[in-house]
Amino acid sequence: METLIFATNNEHKLHEVKKMLSGLYTVIGLEEAGIFEDIPENENTLNGNARAKALYVHSKLKTNVFADDTGLEILALNGEPGVYSARYAGVQKNSSDNMHLVLEKLKNIKNRNAQFRTAICLYLNDTEYFFEGIVKGSIIENPRGKEGFGYDPIFKPEGYHLTFAEIPLDEKNKISHRGQAIENLISFLKSQGK
Ligand code: IMP
Repeated sequence: METLIFATNNEHKLHEVKKMLSGLYTVIGLEEAGIFEDIPENENTLNGNARAKALYVHSKLKTNVFADDTGLEILALNGEPGVYSARYAGVQKNSSDNMHLVLEKLKNIKNRNAQFRTAICLYLNDTEYFFEGIVKGSIIENPRGKEGFGYDPIFKPEGYHLTFAEIPLDEKNKISHRGQAIENLISFLKSQGK
């Protein structure tokens, strides 16, 4: 079976994708591929960062590879925190600080519409492809729930009364931005006759 590198060190994401692509590709992460350095993510778009990570690995190893980048985009904040989601409140990348900064900025703002968006960049046989997944929802006023990570306690997906941090992980993965982007990637890989 051909190898496909997922340019991540996140064990949880890697496990999920390995499961989804089993029988199609042998998926390996950055460490297994022998890449131990931090890959720069200095672009100002999600696509740009996903591309930078995939291109870094592709230039080095000449293999098939994909990378993802996710952001929370809040309408009333002109799409912030967006590409800066991980470090919105500073380089310490603290989820609680990030959430509280969002809540502070949305104080007294009625329009709480937001979406999570995941961009994926794939290099397959030296050609570049992009995929996307979006989940729409809104930002609540006080964090709720203990599941998940990042902004999950303040994000309520459309059609749910619960926040992402109150929905079991399996269920979140079925409707999430990342889940949808990966589904789009997988449909494409399957359509390539694999
Ligand atoms: P990454 O590109 O997957 O590393 O995501 C960048 C940042 O977006 C993370 O550090 C989190 O702050 C936020 N984020 C990404 N995915 C999620 C999610 O599923 N729930 C909550 N926050 C997320």
